[in-house]
Amino acid sequence: MKKAHRIALKPTPEQEVWFGQQAGYARFAYNWALGEFKAGLDVGDWLTERTLRPRWNKIKSMIAPWGAELSQNVAKYAIIDLGQATAGWGEYRRKVKSGQRTDRRVGFPRFKRRTHEQGFRADNGPDTVRADGKVVILPKIGQVAMVEALRFPGSIQEVTINRTAGTWFACFCIEDGQEPPPVKAGPTIGVDVGVGTMATCSDGLTVENPRALYSGLKRLRRLDNAIARSRNVHGKTQQSDRRESLYVNRRRLHARIVNVRNDNHHKATTAIAKSAGRVVVESLNVAGMVRNRRLARAIADAGMSGFLTKLEYKCRWYGAEYAKADRWFASSKLCARCGWRNDDLTLADRGWWCGGCGVLNDRDANAAKNLANWPGLSFPVFRHRRMETV
Ligand SMILES: [Zn+2]
Repeated sequence: MKKAHRIALKPTPEQEVWFGQQAGYARFAYNWALGEFKAGLDVGDWLTERTLRPRWNKIKSMIAPWGAELSQNVAKYAIIDLGQATAGWGEYRRKVKSGQRTDRRVGFPRFKRRTHEQGFRADNGPDTVRADGKVVILPKIGQVAMVEALRFPGSIQEVTINRTAGTWFACFCIEDGQEPPPVKAGPTIGVDVGVGTMATCSDGLTVENPRALYSGLKRLRRLDNAIARSRNVHGKTQQSDRRESLYVNRRRLHARIVNVRNDNHHKATTAIAKSAGRVVVESLNVAGMVRNRRLARAIADAGMSGFLTKLEYKCRWYGAEYAKADRWFASSKLCARCGWRNDDLTLADRGWWCGGCGVLNDRDANAAKNLANWPGLSFPVFRHRRMETV
């Protein structure tokens, strides 16, 4: 199984300079390839990474002579990256055009800016990077100190170095050589993911969004406003120490929000995957929902798709079957007790009285129970029931 581990690094000042240069080279190659790709599109050519890479090798000494000293793999991987991004976008566009359903929206790749996250691929292929306790040995640069040792043994497939809010991290992708464990015996747990409550499980567990997330988002909004004001007062291009420090604060806060959210997701998904034999989730059309503007912010915040991604791979790790109910399964509208269908249910309703059996259904808990029962509902087909009760 492939596993990922992200570890903060403790580079020397010289190593930090080297990292910065490598990241700059990666960004330059990426942006060059994106420019070429766009120019190709304009004349009806779809340039893949296989066409772009030889072109880059031919002209790199002319357009980026300063890169000669750096690792050439960095540029190669950056162009491969761009190739994947354009392929993903192309696939998405094809699906949309042919009316197929899509799990998430894929945007056209954007040019990378210096002020954005810096990063580059540091390996030269599988097993070219070694880790020895709290030291990682990278090609070309050698030993770099890490704050902790790798958690998983195995073969190191990929290493990406990037900088978040001023700290350099190494992200390891490791193949541990082990097969996923067989599916264990355990209850079926339906998981309803939502905006207010992050997740509601049919076994009674609820996962709230942490308060720290909301206060962080509030502070973020204030910072965004301050930055916008500063831009209006001083002009976009003029340097300002105050604005620079606002940018630093914003990057730190962003990193913190991501950490808080991820931490919450990790704890909850591990608990669910460990206790269940089977997990059933809703099939979310997150892309479709984000288009709904009122809900967009809240949904993006809750990071529902991130939650589900983690839940899926953790089910694989801990031997639980992971199932997605089909998109048309009305988990919220059906009464989990008798199968009556509430077609008047709106997004604002947190609870509803069942017209069939009279029970008061909590919206999320009821949906979770229905998911646990999916696809077979253990009562007569709901349509007949509904006819009787009208
Ligand atoms: Zn009912």
